[in-house]
Amino acid sequence: MDFSFTEEQLAVKRLAREFADREIRPYIARWDRERHFPQDLPRKMGEQGLLGVCLPRRYEGSGLDYVALALVCEEIEKAETAYREILSVHVALHALTLLQWGSEEQKRRFLPDLATGRRLAAFGLTEPDAGSDVAGLRTTARRDGGSYVLNGQKTWISYADRADVFLVFARTDPEAPRHEGISAFIVERGTPGFTTSTIEGKLGVWAGNTGSLHFADARVPVENRLGEEGEGFKIAMSALDNGRLTVAAGSVGLIEACLEASVAYARTRRAFGRPIGEFQLVQRMIAKMVRARDTSRWVTYYAAWLKNQGRRATREVALAKWHATTLAFESAVDAVQIHGAYGFSSDFPVERYMRNAKGAVIYEGTTEVQEVLQAEYALGLREDRPLRRELPAWPFAEDAGQGG
Ligand SMILES: Cc1cc2nc3c(=O)[nH]c(=O)nc-3n(C[C@H](O)[C@H](O)[C@H](O)COP(=O)(O)OP(=O)(O)OC[C@H]3O[C@@H](n4cnc5c(N)ncnc54)[C@H](O)[C@@H]3O)c2cc1C
Repeated sequence: MDFSFTEEQLAVKRLAREFADREIRPYIARWDRERHFPQDLPRKMGEQGLLGVCLPRRYEGSGLDYVALALVCEEIEKAETAYREILSVHVALHALTLLQWGSEEQKRRFLPDLATGRRLAAFGLTEPDAGSDVAGLRTTARRDGGSYVLNGQKTWISYADRADVFLVFARTDPEAPRHEGISAFIVERGTPGFTTSTIEGKLGVWAGNTGSLHFADARVPVENRLGEEGEGFKIAMSALDNGRLTVAAGSVGLIEACLEASVAYARTRRAFGRPIGEFQLVQRMIAKMVRARDTSRWVTYYAAWLKNQGRRATREVALAKWHATTLAFESAVDAVQIHGAYGFSSDFPVERYMRNAKGAVIYEGTTEVQEVLQAEYALGLREDRPLRRELPAWPFAEDAGQGG
């Protein structure tokens, strides 16, 4: 067992921290309050190599591994959840899914722009009447000559109203069993019949965008179908194996942010003639945050390490997501508590942490969905079957011969 990081992993963690300190932290309280998303942020992240972190060099990525991706997510979410969400949807759910399932032509066409942040990508799975029950989705894609005609709606899609390119799941065979009649499509903004809108009144991630995708006879060329017809459900699940890792890693950063804010406050706030950090009931909340951070960190790094070996790790990733997100929310609730009434105000960041942390126990599979999944593995009700296309191990086969 080797618990040490490589030089490259530490360097990219430092880079992400410096980026967050320079480009996010000074502005985030105002952006959050004003519901402002800085449109040039993904491009800046791309220019720093933060969006290409887990993509092969031949597609303009940096060829770094899943541990590096986890470290970047941790540092970015420590500053703001909404911008870690960019890494989740753009890198993990979209770009890595293209890397796994795309044809060489598709990879060459789309990945360089994603690795460099020239285009922003999103992931469209959830529908108004189908969230946890993915196979219940109703958006249709009817084959018509050299294209598919999409009709339906997606909702709760991160960066719906900002992204340039979308991975969308739709039913191509209404007669097939629920899981088998779904296919995946790359849909570009500007496609006639395809529009997007923003959801107002969210509980959290105010500094990011969440919205809906609308398809009214939107024509998508056959070349934009990802994988084979009917493989959409498997593609969506494999995407979530990547996405959940980034959500878990981001939650580690959020716990760390809660801990730092709570320690600073507990040292200076006085009650009954003493700093509140000297009261053992306050110390208990801080101790729980330390436990949350460390256990979440290692279960997440382990899942990332498994993925580096080219192992599927569906169960381990789901465990990390469940563990880290539930403890991040608990930590944020405790951080607000430690701040007393001030925690209830936007003068301190902890109320934002609490609102943002609630989202992560819902998206990319709710807590209950992760629990069911663990129980099903334990009871022998679920097993991982080989996929036609597995996510490449790192170092990526694509980089072979290029020193990567
Ligand atoms: C901020 C935010 C960003 C998001 N971004 C995206 C995105 O980019 N792309 C995307 O496709 N989606 C996105 N989502 C949607 C998200 O993935 C779904 O909301 C989530 O999967 C849950 O689906 P639902 O909301 O329809 O809840 P439902 O599936 O209706 O669930 C409602 C409740 O029932 C419980 N439940 C459901 N089924 C079971 C079961 N079998 N056993 C036990 N309990 C169960 C759930 O746990 C939950 O508590 C986002 C959501 C949020 C809040």
